[in-house]
Amino acid sequence: MRRKLAAGNWKMNGTQASLSELTTLAAHHPSAACDILICPPATLITPASQTAGPIAIGAQDCHTADKGAHTGDISASMLKDAGASAVILGHSERREDHGESEDLVRAKARSVMEAGLLAIVCVGESLAERDAQNTLDIIGGQLAGSIPDGATGHNLVVAYEPIWAIGTGKVPTLDQIGEVHDFIRARLERRFGQGVGRSVRLLYGGSVKPGNAADIFAVSNVDGALVGGASLTAADFSPIVRALEAAS
Ligand code: PEP
Repeated sequence: MRRKLAAGNWKMNGTQASLSELTTLAAHHPSAACDILICPPATLITPASQTAGPIAIGAQDCHTADKGAHTGDISASMLKDAGASAVILGHSERREDHGESEDLVRAKARSVMEAGLLAIVCVGESLAERDAQNTLDIIGGQLAGSIPDGATGHNLVVAYEPIWAIGTGKVPTLDQIGEVHDFIRARLERRFGQGVGRSVRLLYGGSVKPGNAADIFAVSNVDGALVGGASLTAADFSPIVRALEAAS
């Protein structure tokens, strides 16, 4: 059985004052039936990890190297030292804003796994790619290129995030989500074997809200969500966590 995961990506949002949202979230879910992870900006990882109680804290990116002359960058082992247990990698905003390639995302994921952290690797198609009926080809290429060898259900989570659904309020149909998640599962089983392939958790991300979460969580091979905007407040994220608990 894969334990469900509700993950929040705060992106470049949040100051010390936002930590009260974590305290509230933790108070609402002292012993949740699913894993809860919040990935705040790097500036908040340490204080968040000290106040989040049962909620795990993650990061949104890291460098490929463990240490060295890389001004402004942070390594996976430094994030671990700061209190992170997971790192989001290859988010479409990083692929677009920073030109991150599959090779770079794979190297980052490897460094995260070597540091003993959970790599949450994001994949997803653009609207033009979907309209051209290239979605599965694109996702297949991203999976092959951005996931390193040695992945297991303990060190890897894959997040399917159609780019056109992120922050837009647009959501694929449940059939479209199911088709891609089933495809990702099959690809993981083919590459890593059935045991490992079946143990990796698959998250859906893209405009998940309290109102649509339960329907999405009922889709085959959806093991949780990666949530942006609706993870910023406990009032929005808590009902999503409850919907996932109900599906667990
Ligand atoms: C995300 O940033 O990963 C995301 C899914 O954002 P939103 O939930 O706001 O669409």
